[in-house]
Amino acid sequence: MSEQSAHSKYEFKKTLEELRTKKGRGTELVSLYIPPSKQISDVTSQLKNEHGQAANIKSKVTRDNVQGALESLLSRLSYMEVPENGIVFFTGAVDIGANKTNMETSIIEPPQPIVTYRYHCDSSFFLEPLEEMLRDAKTYGLLVLDRREASVGLLVGKHIEHYRTLTSTVPGKQRKGGQSAHRFQQLRLIAIHDFYKRIGEAASEVFLTVDHKDFEGVLIGGPSPTKEEFESGDFLHHELQKRILGLFDVAYTDESGLSELVNAASDRLADIDLMVEKKLMQRFFQELVSDSGKAAYGETQVRENLNIGAVEILLISEGLRAERLTLSCPNGDYEDKITRNFKPGEEETSSIQCPVCGTNVEVTERVDIVDELSELADQMATEVEFISTDFDEGYQLLNAFGGIVAILRFNSGV
Ligand SMILES: [Zn+2]
Repeated sequence: MSEQSAHSKYEFKKTLEELRTKKGRGTELVSLYIPPSKQISDVTSQLKNEHGQAANIKSKVTRDNVQGALESLLSRLSYMEVPENGIVFFTGAVDIGANKTNMETSIIEPPQPIVTYRYHCDSSFFLEPLEEMLRDAKTYGLLVLDRREASVGLLVGKHIEHYRTLTSTVPGKQRKGGQSAHRFQQLRLIAIHDFYKRIGEAASEVFLTVDHKDFEGVLIGGPSPTKEEFESGDFLHHELQKRILGLFDVAYTDESGLSELVNAASDRLADIDLMVEKKLMQRFFQELVSDSGKAAYGETQVRENLNIGAVEILLISEGLRAERLTLSCPNGDYEDKITRNFKPGEEETSSIQCPVCGTNVEVTERVDIVDELSELADQMATEVEFISTDFDEGYQLLNAFGGIVAILRFNSGV
């Protein structure tokens, strides 16, 4: 995965985590999923209907809060156009402790199209459809073929898009009377070759339109030996030919063959991501034990190496939640930057005292440490990779190394 998409995935994940911590005091938090195909006028009439029904809610507080959330949504919707992937609203009176609530709204443009319209009212926000997108937001090229028919599509997250189905003019195995067997065989091979070429061109056209940073590779399905012949014949664009992820036995070559292909490849898809992360962590551990001086860990050491441009790859745990605070004493005798771990939604209680005069210091700047380190990395052409905690080395990265390590370009002596 590229840096940019990895970073936006991290942002998206963080937003969902924050939403997950929010609770209503009754069933009064509204989640509204609007697919791109939905007419806003339909949505508003449904919401007006919900508003009327909410009048039957027994608790006055809950009733007022639900109706308030609906009114806020209706006013936001009145002049809006639905974006390309649809839009999601989370609105409601969120419990902020001390017997108080606060009317909050979050609006999310999802990374993939919303499929189903949903209106959901509960004591927490309904996040499953977005969490589903987070699990797998990558794009794969799909191609199924035999000698008669081929279909081309894309797998975007969990969503299959069918683009084209081609049919061949390859003659059957039975030759017509009067043709020599040799001549017939020759014509047949030429027709097959031409069909493979057409498939390759159609597939390349579709796959090359995908933004490079989102494209993971190509999956090919079909009977044997057709798919093997196609793969070894270099019919795809040379950039795509290098990115074939695997060949899978699939019986159908029409649109339904595309979902058959995704099912056949599902184990492989889960592995690919994890393999990449695993290899990176293994490289880090190899450098670490070899005493090459090309492994750095601990925030301070990694930061120093980043600053001098010594980091080749910065490895950040997906589980890392920390922020960088700039502190300043109002008496003007102290200024510093510190890193503090946090849990999403956690109340900030502890204040920090000036080490010189003992006054409570002010936080003058607050940035997410991942944003801050990514920016540093960017300036030094350092690659950033996010590592999940779903495997041993990834778990160690978060729990034994504080979530941040680096593979260095050279032994920096830092
Ligand atoms: Zn002070």
